[in-house]
Amino acid sequence: MITIQEVKTNAENFSEYRELTPAIFDRSVGLSKQLKKLKVIHINSTQLGGGVSELLRSQMPLERSLGIDSYWYIIKAPRQFFKVTKKIHNMLQGEDDNLNLAERFFFMEWLRSAIAPFFRNLIKKEKPDIVLIHDPQPLPLIDHIVNKSKDVAALLRLHIDLSEPNEGAMNFLQPFIEKYQLTILSHQSYKPKWLKDKDTSIIMPAIDPFTPKNVFMDEAEADKTLGSFKIKTDKPIVSQVSRFDPWKDPLGTLKAYQLAKAKHPDLQLILAGLFQAYDDPEAIEVFEKVKKEAADDKDVFLFSDPSALNGVSNDVFINSVYSGSDIIIQKSIKEGFGLTVTEAMWKKKPVIGGKAKGIMLQIEHNQNGLLAGSPKEAGQHLIYLLENKEEAQRLGLAAHQSVKDKFLMSRLVLEHLEVYSKFK
Ligand code: UDP
Repeated sequence: MITIQEVKTNAENFSEYRELTPAIFDRSVGLSKQLKKLKVIHINSTQLGGGVSELLRSQMPLERSLGIDSYWYIIKAPRQFFKVTKKIHNMLQGEDDNLNLAERFFFMEWLRSAIAPFFRNLIKKEKPDIVLIHDPQPLPLIDHIVNKSKDVAALLRLHIDLSEPNEGAMNFLQPFIEKYQLTILSHQSYKPKWLKDKDTSIIMPAIDPFTPKNVFMDEAEADKTLGSFKIKTDKPIVSQVSRFDPWKDPLGTLKAYQLAKAKHPDLQLILAGLFQAYDDPEAIEVFEKVKKEAADDKDVFLFSDPSALNGVSNDVFINSVYSGSDIIIQKSIKEGFGLTVTEAMWKKKPVIGGKAKGIMLQIEHNQNGLLAGSPKEAGQHLIYLLENKEEAQRLGLAAHQSVKDKFLMSRLVLEHLEVYSKFK
């Protein structure tokens, strides 16, 4: 079994950002001239589902269109491996848990015996200038980079909220993290104390406004798709788009909806979390809990099976959900960033976000969205927005502007070029 595979991406041209973010466009083009033919290999664990693959799918072609030789590879592993890495992920975000010896052994041994030989070959054959490893799943591969210091710079990108990690998981990974020449985080507050400033860079995530998920979709088109699932598009709709995961708090969202529905009986709820991230074995369990809790409420629409979308692609479906909803909620408890918040804000929707660090990097309460610390508060915000349409519209417009100013892909690409230039 080949355990490292290249992911091909669609072509995209950086010149699309010339008008949207002119200053960033000019700086990126200028800097890219000094980096022509630099070879960068990105490695993560999943091609579909979740924020990291979403970022890489756009970042790779944009970097290539600027003359950087950027490639994206994923590692392959059995379910047991991803069970362990999901646990590590949750513990790094603060979950009180324990990584037993058998789990550590399985994780390390799979990387060493099944992945490392392919990884070493890849490095030998492709001779990249930079290897950029994303998140904990492939993190210990640093030990298998040949001639580390001389030939290839090894950089790490951690997308998670590391501000209050479980010490067990952090102590386990610290010796590996320290071997990287640079660790990129989404926010300064995620930096572990032992990591030096000079070994850290901060790059906030971003969205690509030109993808089928993020381009403008008019309401009639969105309604057509939603209507085909018997959702009543002439009645109010609130939606949450995210993996079925305890940190995303779909049960909290359901509770908030139920509170608001008591006052607005025609309110409907869409929870969309299509199972496509193979590194997320927890999703089915959480989905079943939500389904049970929603019981026989005909106005709750759960989407988990991509094959039940009547041939509509994931991206077009998610775009329809955002575009056809009145309010978007993302009630997360922990969130490294939360691209779903950015995507909904770009759609000019009023967004209610949980008070998770990553969401608070994007939403300023009452300025460009609303923040809720509990399902009850989220329910109150829902009622407020349903009853104050002008306020909802004001928040949506401000949300769009803040994404335009801060969270578009061109800025993320420029910041990566700045990092690459340190290692060329
Ligand atoms: N997503 C999707 N289909 C779904 C649910 C989520 O395409 O059914 C996408 C969503 O649009 C976003 C990404 O998955 O681009 C989730 O990224 P985020 O940073 O919000 O969360 P993560 O899953 O990485 O924790």
